[in-house]
Amino acid sequence: MAAKKKINEREALRQALHQQGVQLTSQRVAVFEYLSGVEHHPTAEEIYLAVKPKLPRISLATIYKNLEALIKCEVVSKLTYGDAAARYDIRTDHHYHTRCLSCGKVWDLNAVEGSAWLKQVKPQAGFEVKDYRLEILGHCRDCRR
Ligand SMILES: [Zn+2]
Ligand SMILES: [Zn+2]
Repeated sequence: MAAKKKINEREALRQALHQQGVQLTSQRVAVFEYLSGVEHHPTAEEIYLAVKPKLPRISLATIYKNLEALIKCEVVSKLTYGDAAARYDIRTDHHYHTRCLSCGKVWDLNAVEGSAWLKQVKPQAGFEVKDYRLEILGHCRDCRR
């Protein structure tokens, strides 16, 4: 069953890339599969270190290029944090995150969309809301040890 699921995911990925005229290469598959297999949202550097054993000739610059291609095809999203390294997320839907202030790792936060408290938020008069972000900051279990 697990193998079949992987094939279906691969096919969905191939189609999403094809729509944008992007080829499904072994590098893109490796980046995508690493992203879908990790619990947190890694940096490009972490992705590089993780896929390098499988693809020894890959460079960090190539990782960035592959990530940009996957973002263009809307199968990966990029999370930016000012001066800190961007992180990459396999989810492209609207959702929330928790972020560790010590190690910088980012995880998905399981919260209900459009929670009641959000309706209480009142921006200043004339302000048109287009989007919002919610991030819970703290220290992860590993950093608290
Ligand atoms: Zn941490
Ligand atoms: Zn996420």
